[in-house]
Amino acid sequence: MKLTENTAIVLRNANYRENDRMLTLFSPARGRIEAAARGSRKPKSPLIAASELFALGDYLLYEKDGRNTVTSVQLTETFYPLRNDFERLTCGMYLLETCEAVIQPGKAEHELFMLLLYTLSRLAFSEQPWRSLLTGYLIHFAAIQGFRPRLSHCVRCGRRLLPDAPRYFDAQEGGTVCPSCRVRQPVITAGEVQFLMRALEGGSSTWVENEGEKAPLPLMRAYVEQRLEKPIHSGKMLQ
Ligand SMILES: [Zn+2]
Repeated sequence: MKLTENTAIVLRNANYRENDRMLTLFSPARGRIEAAARGSRKPKSPLIAASELFALGDYLLYEKDGRNTVTSVQLTETFYPLRNDFERLTCGMYLLETCEAVIQPGKAEHELFMLLLYTLSRLAFSEQPWRSLLTGYLIHFAAIQGFRPRLSHCVRCGRRLLPDAPRYFDAQEGGTVCPSCRVRQPVITAGEVQFLMRALEGGSSTWVENEGEKAPLPLMRAYVEQRLEKPIHSGKMLQ
């Protein structure tokens, strides 16, 4: 048995027994951690806030026989303003679910963790439109997970595509296709490609639509979601 201190964020919680919760934590150093928060549903429990979704803090865990129990938490952030806006809250839950779909026990994910925190911060504490923010998140998510889409060449014949040339998006192949190679792939406009390329170069505060750009959220969602092994339930509520 041992005690470990882990910076982590709550991605999921599930009630069990009368007063307890099982938490799925995302630790940048240790990836996925399941931990029991005993008594956390009692009105006076010190673990109430720390067992809610989006709770970020230093979780002191007691580990025995491969099971973790939360002993105490130093909370640093709860992203509380998300609770005041249904669309932004749903978008935040979507971010948590996509992370939960890829993290593994014992596998560090520092870059993904920072991506999640930066995106959640903009979502909770800025007026930035959530659709372009989420689209920027998704292209970075794809890049971190090793399936960054190719946007300047045709993924089938390899031909270079000029910035204003017509092109289509092939989610299976992971990038754009030229008119000669197109079968049924949907159009991706020059303004959409421009948004994605620029979003890849910058941080979360730059994920806004500049003049002539458009954030291709449905395309990026379809692209990322088909690479994940689990359905993203909160996606159904995002319109
Ligand atoms: Zn082609």
